[in-house]
Amino acid sequence: MTGVNHLIDGLWQGFRGREAAVFAELGDGRHYTYADLDAVSARFAAALVGLGVKPGDRVAAQVEKSIEALMLYLGAVRAGAVFLPLNTAYTPAEIGYFVGDAEPALLVCDPAREAALRPLAEGVGARLETLGASKGGAVPQGSLLGLVPATADDFRDVARGPDDLAAILYTSGTTGRSKGAMLSHDNLLSNARVLAATWAFTAADVLIHALPIFHTHGLFVATNTTIVSGARLIWMERFDADAVIGAIPRATALMGVPTFYTRLLADPRLDRELTKGMRLFISGSAPLLAETHRQWEARTGHAILERYGMTECSMNTSNPYDGERRAGTVGFPLAGVELRITEPETGRPLAQGEIGMIEVRGPNVFKGYWRMPEKTAEELRPDGWFITGDLGMIDDRGYVVIVGRGKDLIISGGFNVYPKEVEGEIDRIPGVLESAVIGVPHPDFGEGVVAVVVPAKGAALTEADIVGPLSERLAKFKQPKRVFFADSLPRNTMGKVQKKELRDQHAGAFA
Ligand code: AMP
Repeated sequence: MTGVNHLIDGLWQGFRGREAAVFAELGDGRHYTYADLDAVSARFAAALVGLGVKPGDRVAAQVEKSIEALMLYLGAVRAGAVFLPLNTAYTPAEIGYFVGDAEPALLVCDPAREAALRPLAEGVGARLETLGASKGGAVPQGSLLGLVPATADDFRDVARGPDDLAAILYTSGTTGRSKGAMLSHDNLLSNARVLAATWAFTAADVLIHALPIFHTHGLFVATNTTIVSGARLIWMERFDADAVIGAIPRATALMGVPTFYTRLLADPRLDRELTKGMRLFISGSAPLLAETHRQWEARTGHAILERYGMTECSMNTSNPYDGERRAGTVGFPLAGVELRITEPETGRPLAQGEIGMIEVRGPNVFKGYWRMPEKTAEELRPDGWFITGDLGMIDDRGYVVIVGRGKDLIISGGFNVYPKEVEGEIDRIPGVLESAVIGVPHPDFGEGVVAVVVPAKGAALTEADIVGPLSERLAKFKQPKRVFFADSLPRNTMGKVQKKELRDQHAGAFA
């Protein structure tokens, strides 16, 4: 180790002198100490350098979650490369776009995908190696591991400064092409440090890690915050409510998407006794229903701490660790992060309480979109403010409230309808589990408001049951003109409702 790689140096300070401590429990009794984390990630880095990966080269990976996949991330950073994780759900055709756009030097994929992806890799002159899934913490199969040397004690981290790129994360791209958000070493390190401080992480913490690691939440928030605190992970290949319930008595913290919390609430074993050793439940990546917040507190005595972030910025805001965690809000800007609300058309800053575009500025904000200078210029102002695309406001006590994605805003007859407000009213109606409100083409109004409602188990609801109560609570232009019922809402792995899918499905509602 030398003191030259900004992100690695900063993270590694979290466990200096405590190398024998456990970094990750892997299941089946296997574990990684911090000494293992250091040694194995160095071996991965040595393998990458041996493959000819140069500083600034992209190392792309579409692999299942395993501790080795995490070592590939850290090894890539130590080798001076730019790590590029890809959602395991992407099809080979989609991977073709990312590989063509990012032109990685190396693509690592699941052995089952090798045949489909090899021509794509060869098309851009990338090497292709494989890394398989890990079951119960067991070592995966794959050609990459054959290239990892047994020791790499002489490996020296490749020098990288604060502004050098550590990763490119593609946005989920629900409209148009995915964009590669370029994240620097300091983007990641500054965020890890501020989160560890905000959430009071220490070496005594044990975090349940059940998130995927192709996304900022599981890859950076959960992992970097743990390492920079010298804390411990209980590593799970996927979320499984039974396994999480089993781990809670040994843990102190959980980071999850809202669906983790609703699934855990469905388990009768979840109660105060089970969670008495826990100090923190964190939620993010998608809105947590105020109802889930309330139910969780009633069952466990813990108020879930909701925070707000995105691929381009890691985390922006958090509810307080000490102080009121307000349901339906995402809290305050993190230390060092500025947040303002602006008028979408003009960029004029708005007053407290007014709804507008959320903009953020700070050391967490990315360096721009990979090879998309026009998109970068549209969303990242020259003075550093990033136009997030989320609409929100700052409430009377300074808490940030998100009202939805800008692109989900419905304009019906010239009036703005914020889906979240309508969804909130629908969700209060007895017999409703949850809802999604969308705008679809309407011959008179431009867009017409449509509600998709999921009834609670056993509830029989009609359109009148929904429309009736809303007529007293919402202005006419906000009331759904059509109501559809569904068994569930389409969600991606991060728990986000896929509104585009719903809009496509109901595009003909007023035809
Ligand atoms: P991604 O880039 O995939 O992480 O998605 C980021 C988007 O997720 C944000 O721009 C928000 O729209 C949404 N998001 C993240 N956290 C929250 C939250 N706590 N509440 C509401 N929306 C959230």
